[in-house]
Amino acid sequence: MKIITDLKEMSSLGRSWSSNTQVGFVPTMGYLHEGHLSLVTRSNQQCDITIVSIFVNPAQFGPQEDLSVYPRDLERDLELLRNYKVNYVFFPNEKQMYPDEFKTWVEVDKISSILCGASRVGHFKGVATIIAKLVNIVNPHHMFMGEKDFQQCLVLETMLNDLDFHTRIVRCPIIREQDGLAMSSRNKYLSNEERSSALCLYLSLQMAQEMWSNGITDTNNVEHKMKELIKSMGGRIDYIAFVNSSSLQTVKQIDSSVRLLLAVFIGKTRLIDNCGF
Ligand code: AMP
Repeated sequence: MKIITDLKEMSSLGRSWSSNTQVGFVPTMGYLHEGHLSLVTRSNQQCDITIVSIFVNPAQFGPQEDLSVYPRDLERDLELLRNYKVNYVFFPNEKQMYPDEFKTWVEVDKISSILCGASRVGHFKGVATIIAKLVNIVNPHHMFMGEKDFQQCLVLETMLNDLDFHTRIVRCPIIREQDGLAMSSRNKYLSNEERSSALCLYLSLQMAQEMWSNGITDTNNVEHKMKELIKSMGGRIDYIAFVNSSSLQTVKQIDSSVRLLLAVFIGKTRLIDNCGF
């Protein structure tokens, strides 16, 4: 496994892939867990070369957010990636990615300003910009992303398509802890008590799926029950949204085209999760 810290080196490697080599890319902010590693496994299965980037992207954090305390452990991450037989790790520094004279931003209209984009203003502008840069540098055929960040998948698919990148996103399923909590680097922030509360996200999604399989399709009805459950377990709801899974438009009735998206504060930690029907 080769570790590349120099942007220019990564960029010239990205220009050197031979036409019969499939290149897979897994962008991450590090502090890796089994969710990230499932993307690596998928890339290894599907591609000849797997590249993982580790970069905590300051542009996607708001001024009141957790950039300075975001968990990092490069040595541990590298050890894990070695075991997973990754070919290259791209680990650039902030100055290379955002030099002082940096002025160009990528914004995906409409779908970036709702849901997580409404609570985290500018978040998807930061995400779209860093991914456009990384894809341009790494030049992969496939980029492996988790459906845990459902809206992010859609924003980035739109960006890649609109800007005529040839890279395609491969969406991968949400990996969960044994009790159902979606794996996230931010779970590290949770105290023991908060860790128990955090299960309200998964339990409320499960309840919604169960209500639907019992014939209840009215979203108001399901949302009301979800709110009760989440509040009773100590969660503070940021949003509960029943949306069309392609357009992210709000819907009133649940059917198989609907995605249920959820953001909940557990103490100061904001967690997200989602499910289909
Ligand atoms: P992050 O390091 O949080 O930016 O995440 C990097 C990638 O890992 C993104 O594509 C995420 O959607 C994905 N990811 C994070 N958590 C999970 C999870 N629990 N299951 C599947 N993918 C995940």
